[in-house]
Amino acid sequence: MDDPRRDCKDFGMTEHRLSIPADDALGLLETHFGYPSFRGSQRAIIDHVCSGQNALVVMPTGMGKSLCYQIPALAMKADGENLVLVLSPLVALMHDQVDSMVRRGMDAAFINSSLDRPTRLQRYQELADGKYRLIYVTPERFRKDDFREALSKRRVRLLAIDEAHCVSQWGHDFRPDYSRVGDIRRSLGDPVTIALTATATAECRDDIRRQLRLDENSIKLFHEGIDRPNLKLDVQPVFDEEEKLIVIGDALDDTEYRGGSVIVYFSLIKTLERFSDDFRQRGIDHVVYHGDVPRHRRRRVQDEFMAGDADIVLATPAFGMGVDKEDVRVVIHAETPGSIESYYQEIGRAGRDGKPSLCRWLYDQSDLMTQMQFIEWSNPDADFYGRVYTTMVEHPEPCRAFGLQWLNDRLQRVSRHDHRLATAIAMLDRHGVIAGPHEPECFDILGPLPSYFSDDEALAHKKRRDQQRLYAMVQLAAEEGDRKEFLNRYFMGDGFTENENPTPTA
Ligand code: ADP
Ligand code: MG
Repeated sequence: MDDPRRDCKDFGMTEHRLSIPADDALGLLETHFGYPSFRGSQRAIIDHVCSGQNALVVMPTGMGKSLCYQIPALAMKADGENLVLVLSPLVALMHDQVDSMVRRGMDAAFINSSLDRPTRLQRYQELADGKYRLIYVTPERFRKDDFREALSKRRVRLLAIDEAHCVSQWGHDFRPDYSRVGDIRRSLGDPVTIALTATATAECRDDIRRQLRLDENSIKLFHEGIDRPNLKLDVQPVFDEEEKLIVIGDALDDTEYRGGSVIVYFSLIKTLERFSDDFRQRGIDHVVYHGDVPRHRRRRVQDEFMAGDADIVLATPAFGMGVDKEDVRVVIHAETPGSIESYYQEIGRAGRDGKPSLCRWLYDQSDLMTQMQFIEWSNPDADFYGRVYTTMVEHPEPCRAFGLQWLNDRLQRVSRHDHRLATAIAMLDRHGVIAGPHEPECFDILGPLPSYFSDDEALAHKKRRDQQRLYAMVQLAAEEGDRKEFLNRYFMGDGFTENENPTPTA
């Protein structure tokens, strides 16, 4: 019998069209993945990009976004030139994906900082020589001349931007280098582009289009909704920590959600530690993951969790995107998250295997104060930015010698427990104004302070948005109807409506 993929020989011949005959896509799905049919809009998306058009895909976690660029990669003529390039924000994410593709016999590879130099150079060479249909990199890779040089020997037929919400400056997972995707795309000759995410409000979708420099007419939105039918969302009003501990205990004992892993999220490390002490006293085995845990230990905790050796993890949101475990049965928010975007992303880690899973949010109104404090810290005003910048420029010596500690003492005589400096430094770094801190603690000044940082109105606007996001959490808690419907409105509609008085009243 004829090879059903025969017609693919034409694939990649015409300038922008990568058409795959219907039987072909299905054939590839069966041969390479062993699945009998496409889910939701997968097929339509594949046809769309293969006909040379751009797509913005919003699809719930676990539904199968990756197939939307993997099938085109398989269908594409492997002529040593054609390539599908995938931008992914995290090294861990691409490892898992590439591993599973290689297991399925696909010619894919990643190039990232986890490779030692000889291996990396070998990959560059292979890439230049025409090996691989699919290459995964982080956007940072484009800073490397030797990568760009190797890539220039290939023709990127499809650019896939995974976790595309990371472009959104004000989103919860902003990755500075994602703001280069527009330049990256241009440098590749504006290839057909598919951007994929599970979480995108209207605002975030606009950001993605803007960054890619594509208007609504030149990138088609495929929105699969956000519902995860196997997740049970519940909100339990509580009044203090004692009550929280009881409610968490109940969730851990619930036989319906046994047999998998549990993530308990906290906003504050000190709350997390108190709960960890309590767990220990009760003999509940668990591990902890937060910003104060040393890096090597954090990695070990994550590996143990992924391998199923640690069933319960107490974590801050730092335990995040790389956590792609199938059988997370329970996700508990022991403290109120700062936005619906964060909440949805975090509960999204539950039930990737499709089995019933519990997402329980313990809503104590007094936790809103913590989030309001975070909003203060993450929104310094123009005066503060000005002082940080001027101090760095005028006092390079002590800055170099004593770094953050010195700056902190100088700028924040009132309260040492004020994280505005950390925000300011991260923001200035993100905008390419400074680079650092590097070891030993010091900063390089790269350029003048952009006008944004002296624009009190723009900064206040951003702060208001953060407050509105928190207010949406309050509304979600108060929702008497279907909470999933509320989330659906939040993500499907035009986002939340501007509120006259967004400050939550607890
Ligand atoms: P997402 O990126 O949307 O979170 P993935 O692309 O990682 O999801 O896919 C999740 C799982 O669903 C994978 O194991 C994938 O192989 C599987 N999958 C994808 N499409 C289909 C399909 N049409 N039929 C059956 N399983 C599928
Ligand atoms: Mg994915």
